Amino acid sequence: MVTLETIVSLAKRRGFVFQGSEIYGGLRSVWDFGPLGIELKRTIKDAWWKYMIQEREDIEGIDTAILMHPAVWQASGHVSGFTDPLVECKTCHNRYREDQLSSNLSKCPDKDCDGDLTESRQFNLMFQTHMGPIQDEGSKIFLRPETAQGIFVNFENVMTATRKKIPFGIGQIGKSFRNEITPGNFIFRTREFEQMEMEFFCEPNKADDWFEYWIDFSLKWFQIIGLEKKNLRKREHSEDERPHYAKAALDIEYQFPWGWGELETINNRSDHDLKNHAEKSGKDLSFFDEDSKERYIPWVVEPAMGADRTVLAVLCDAYREEDLENKDKRVLLKFNPIISPVQVAILPLSKNEKLAKFSSDLYQKLKKSFRCQFDVTQSIGKRYRRQDEIGTPICLTIDFDTVEKDNCVTLRHRDTMEQIRINVKNVEKEIENLLANF
Ligand code: ATP
Repeated sequence: MVTLETIVSLAKRRGFVFQGSEIYGGLRSVWDFGPLGIELKRTIKDAWWKYMIQEREDIEGIDTAILMHPAVWQASGHVSGFTDPLVECKTCHNRYREDQLSSNLSKCPDKDCDGDLTESRQFNLMFQTHMGPIQDEGSKIFLRPETAQGIFVNFENVMTATRKKIPFGIGQIGKSFRNEITPGNFIFRTREFEQMEMEFFCEPNKADDWFEYWIDFSLKWFQIIGLEKKNLRKREHSEDERPHYAKAALDIEYQFPWGWGELETINNRSDHDLKNHAEKSGKDLSFFDEDSKERYIPWVVEPAMGADRTVLAVLCDAYREEDLENKDKRVLLKFNPIISPVQVAILPLSKNEKLAKFSSDLYQKLKKSFRCQFDVTQSIGKRYRRQDEIGTPICLTIDFDTVEKDNCVTLRHRDTMEQIRINVKNVEKEIENLLANF
């Protein structure tokens, strides 16, 4: 299994992820997505949006503000309940999440320190700031710790505007912020991250069925974007680890280099959120079922996943090192082509004018249908290695025969390294076929 250090180093070298504010020494656990990283994250988010929202008739999309009325977080229970147990070492003053330490540990986990730990206290994870020029209690506002609340407060708006009936869902992708006690493991746990969440509103007595449905759906989706089944597992929450709003919760975990880690939680949030918002806002958030003539507050089942954690999972899952016949080694990212940041590389064999013109025309044409990269630097061998390392499934090489003799290009397959000559007239169809059957 690949180490996290290898992934971090490749991510930096090839422009997937950089340390945030690096030239100032970095800001702890804050990361910036580089040119390939942002493409990768976008393709993952697009695949989620397409599969979760655009291809379904029962789900609508939304994009709500990060800043919300402070009453939202009172009603949702986050002000009182969105906490982690914090302990501090009395000697080195390092802070730890008590529930992440091995049980009954009363000494600092740093072996060189071994100081006594304080009693645990509940630490609220919400970031606070102030709105407007006066910094008093009245101007206090939070950065959202989950995107879900923007959906709940718009439940009525979306239902009315779209004439949806229960059951239906609302999905959102966006930034969330949590003042994590112990961020770490690269982009796995950060204080600013992106979530892909969908709140599914249903009849109370159907929530258990939908809970199972969204677990299966999510497992399928992770495999659609290329994660191997053997690296995924389900883990039910014990009663004491469930979030304050959840009646039932199950994690989908991925086998990261350091062990199993959560990628997504599927929560049965019952009527917790809508009921509390209805009470606190005075707005009726119930639904009237025309068929049964019953009025009720819908229950909510929520698949909530992290975009950044999914990026890390696909990087780890795709990473391969292969020994070549000439004793060389090649590194490749075996991305599923639907998420590859670059799908086709166009590589003229030399900078010759004729080749450059032909290649440039081909690039202009292909980039309308595929994510393409044009690269004319270094030897062709080095360029293949580079494309392997960033997970490009197809390379097209244009040589002198292409322009002088046969109008054919060399198409190289990332995984088999097989090369075929193909007439440029058929290249688009061939790429389409190959990408669909990789
Ligand atoms: P954890 O137990 O790892 O702290 P959580 O159970 O609190 O996570 P949820 O509230 O269920 O997380 O959020 C849904 C998803 O959002 C998580 O499965 C994860 O993919 C993502 N996520 C949550 N916190 C972070 C974070 N600090 N950094 C990156 N992604 C996160």
